[in-house]
Amino acid sequence: MRIATLGLFHEANTFSPIKADRALYADGGVLRGEEIVREHGGAETTMGGFLAAGGWPDVEVEPLLFAFVNPIGPIVRDVFDELLSDMLDGLAKHGPRDAVLLALHGAAVAEHVADADGEIATRVRELVGPDVVIGATFDLHANLSPRLIDALDVATVFQTNPHVDAHRQALKCADIVVRAVRGEIRPQSALVPLPLVVNITRQDTSEQPMADLMATAATIADRPGMLDASVVQGFPYADVPQMGMSALAAHDGDATVATKTATELADAIWAVRDHLQAQGLTVDEALDATAREPAGTVVLLDVGDNIGGGAPGDSTVLLAAAQQRGMGSFLQTLWDPDTVRHCVTAGTGATVRTTVGARHAHSPGHPVQVTGTVRLIADGRFEDTTPTHCGFRFFDMGRTAVLDTTDRHTLVLTSKQVLNSSLQQHRCLGIEPADYHVVVAKGVNSPRAAYGRIATRMLVVDTDGITAMGIDRFHYHHRRKPLYPFEQSGVDSTYSPT
Ligand SMILES: [Zn+2]
Repeated sequence: MRIATLGLFHEANTFSPIKADRALYADGGVLRGEEIVREHGGAETTMGGFLAAGGWPDVEVEPLLFAFVNPIGPIVRDVFDELLSDMLDGLAKHGPRDAVLLALHGAAVAEHVADADGEIATRVRELVGPDVVIGATFDLHANLSPRLIDALDVATVFQTNPHVDAHRQALKCADIVVRAVRGEIRPQSALVPLPLVVNITRQDTSEQPMADLMATAATIADRPGMLDASVVQGFPYADVPQMGMSALAAHDGDATVATKTATELADAIWAVRDHLQAQGLTVDEALDATAREPAGTVVLLDVGDNIGGGAPGDSTVLLAAAQQRGMGSFLQTLWDPDTVRHCVTAGTGATVRTTVGARHAHSPGHPVQVTGTVRLIADGRFEDTTPTHCGFRFFDMGRTAVLDTTDRHTLVLTSKQVLNSSLQQHRCLGIEPADYHVVVAKGVNSPRAAYGRIATRMLVVDTDGITAMGIDRFHYHHRRKPLYPFEQSGVDSTYSPT
């Protein structure tokens, strides 16, 4: 059995003015053939799972192209068109194949295509025809559209946040696809979109109400004849018509049962919509709570500067507030290539007086004046084989400088944006995060798998930025209406419960 695998894993924050452009993708963002095996073979990623299916008897998995950059704004027109045509060219060559496995995020937006995932899946279907089985695995933050699901035979979705089951969901998808090619099953998928947005801080799948919803999906998936069932959280920072939550189900042979069970799951989600909304601590409240913790490490989750949601990772809001209070033993990363260059020029051991952070027009806060010693300069590459968000194993911060400031802050200044999803990000520089009283993690859910291991407390801080908690702070032009919680009334009439 010959299976091609390819994909584009992009989460687009349409409120970011920084586009996913050619330079970004050229810097390690596009992998082909053996490059995919080197980066993802043995990794806990979606692509790692698809590659592992190539070890099954009589199954050959051929990796063609995989594109990934850190979450940021929409993909520029030319780059998306080229990536898509490269994928289709690769599929057209050396065919035919029995199946295609797509590693997609589900919240990709290009400048000219609001539903980039739907476009990829539809074009792949047009190319291979109706008889080739197509499966896809999506991030839990997918904004799934009917057009996208219609182009596929089956889709699986990460069911953990932080995402530590990418590999498992990919294997499940591959298993369904392989059995479908062998004629053992006939997957029928159904999507029920909900007019509902879940707050970013209510998405942890180990907390309620998400834990119960995930358990309900798992129970439904275990019923006789069912192939899978998924709660899909959606990604709120994308101003596109398909933005929002959904329920997905797949049955062996009966589309009506698939629709009925997806609707049943959607009903369960809808019933707890009020519990999927949230408010967080202000900066002052969070720092007051931190000051009351006598020992251990408090991790402050900087919601507004969530790198995993497309924010720049250079907000100085918490740094400035800590500096103003004289709060020391403070550790954080900042994306600041300019200051890295300044530190490199000054050299290891030099004392520098400089400003850090907030380099962009949309960066919250202002550049903060610091004086410090350059502890070290590093190439910024590190590896983590323990569970991380999305299962990534290899990371690249670019040239990185560690600055110890006179107000007892340690600043890890990076040239590239990297999620704060691995303790190795600090440990590879000789920094032990557990030695600090305060660690800022620029994310909401993505830091939890790693930082949960060292934190005595994790506090969600309602900071400003293009990933802020309160979605009423953003101006949407393309979202559906009504959509809860934007519109509190009239929503029931657009959603038809069973
Ligand atoms: Zn996600």
